[in-house]
Amino acid sequence: MPIAVYPGRFDPVTHGHLDITRRAATLFDRVVIAVFDLPEGTVFSTEERVTMFREAVNDLPNVAVKGFRGLLVDFARREGATVLVRGIRAVTGFEYEFDMALMNKIMAPEIESVYLFASLQYLYLSGTRIREVASLGYDVTNLVPVHVAEALRRKFSHAYSQRGS
Ligand code: ADP
Repeated sequence: MPIAVYPGRFDPVTHGHLDITRRAATLFDRVVIAVFDLPEGTVFSTEERVTMFREAVNDLPNVAVKGFRGLLVDFARREGATVLVRGIRAVTGFEYEFDMALMNKIMAPEIESVYLFASLQYLYLSGTRIREVASLGYDVTNLVPVHVAEALRRKFSHAYSQRGS
């Protein structure tokens, strides 16, 4: 079975990302989570995003979590991966994903992009939505791992105390 890379911002990791990771971990020998190392524009630093994801998958022996910069196909080659995994939630994301998959195929013909459909119960979950409601003081305990909900509460403590949650 091949090695797969699952890339994303994971700012922060949600139950939706973990669902894709667990399913990918049964399909591939090894799954490497590739956390985009972005200089700015994220709520959590790269180190925080990597650490939170690692803690969430410490029961999965064939999953590793790493930060990365540069071209995803170069990272995948360095990891010996021949598959890129992405989750897909709605048709709205399809065009972007299709475009990106084609470009990756041109740059690295030996690497296949594989799409897993979001599970029904996580269809509505995205990092963006989580950041949005948490920044306004909503307790997201049921939508992300416990340690991530705590990190969000610390990050947005001002909004939480204002709302009284
Ligand atoms: P975001 O979670 O904000 O959409 P990410 O870059 O963190 O963005 O997402 C990484 C990958 O995980 C993408 O392929 C995205 O489509 C997928 N993904 C995100 N949320 C879910 C979900 N709830 N179910 C399935 N896949 C998801």
